[in-house]
Amino acid sequence: MIFPKQRYQCIQCGKSCGQWRIWVEPDLVDSLRRHPLALRLQVAGQPYLVEHEGGWHHLGYDKNGRCFFLEGERRCGLHASTGWLSKPRACRQFPFFLVETPDGTQVGLSFRCSAVQQNLGVDWEQHRNDLEQLAGSGAYRRVGFEATSMGPVRLEWRDYLGWEASWREQLLRGFCLRAIFYHHLVTHLGLELAEVDFARLVQNWTLSALALLQTPLELAELKSNGESIRYFEHVLERKWLWLGENFLGRMLLLLVGEQLYWSAGDKALDLVEGEWLGHREDLGPVEHGLADTMLQFCHR
Ligand code: SF4
Repeated sequence: MIFPKQRYQCIQCGKSCGQWRIWVEPDLVDSLRRHPLALRLQVAGQPYLVEHEGGWHHLGYDKNGRCFFLEGERRCGLHASTGWLSKPRACRQFPFFLVETPDGTQVGLSFRCSAVQQNLGVDWEQHRNDLEQLAGSGAYRRVGFEATSMGPVRLEWRDYLGWEASWREQLLRGFCLRAIFYHHLVTHLGLELAEVDFARLVQNWTLSALALLQTPLELAELKSNGESIRYFEHVLERKWLWLGENFLGRMLLLLVGEQLYWSAGDKALDLVEGEWLGHREDLGPVEHGLADTMLQFCHR
């Protein structure tokens, strides 16, 4: 188990207990229906479980968008009465992202979580049992066991780790990812584009992303702060670049995420993590498109 630098301890803010669709794994549905709290909700006519075609179920929410199992303002009634394992797997897993690497299971965190955003946490040993239960009972993405490629460049896991360490170190020194990746692409892919034109390209892609997200924002200047450094360093640490269809495309997608972050003000983390980098699964075609465009400017 490889624990991240970033910290976490649930502060029971209730943010992840409403609005987001929580699917219930099929083998938990029956025991959930027999749970004493569910029986009470059933008698009260509350739709705590919603059935979909194909027999899939997700948790239902009340008129305020809150999970019916919440007690009081923020406490999960399932967890409080019958323990962590009686909650759907999606609830147990949030805010963790687990990835299998040649060095062990890398623990990542979602920056949608209030505690993660504030870097509130306890010693990682206190999470070990829960994480080992999750890791031992589910299938997770495997990265780095085979080489990948960055455009025409073959990329081995050990080389990547060296790159990641260097990028994270540069972030900590206050450089933005756009500058870091620009110099990387010049060195490794022979990118023949002035830095100012590269910046303009990223800004144009970001305008397209804003149209896709239907979020009207003005583009803002990149300027590192403590939160942005912590967030983007963790995105690298959780091996996000390996989890898409195209490594180079993902690097460019991350630059769009960085520009979105600077443009979104105090909603930056929710927008970038929730709708672009952390919880979005349909951007494969965008990755390929960005990579193809970039390779047109490269000569190797
Ligand atoms: S968002 Fe994070 S801190 Fe808030 S309830 Fe969910 S896991 Fe806990």
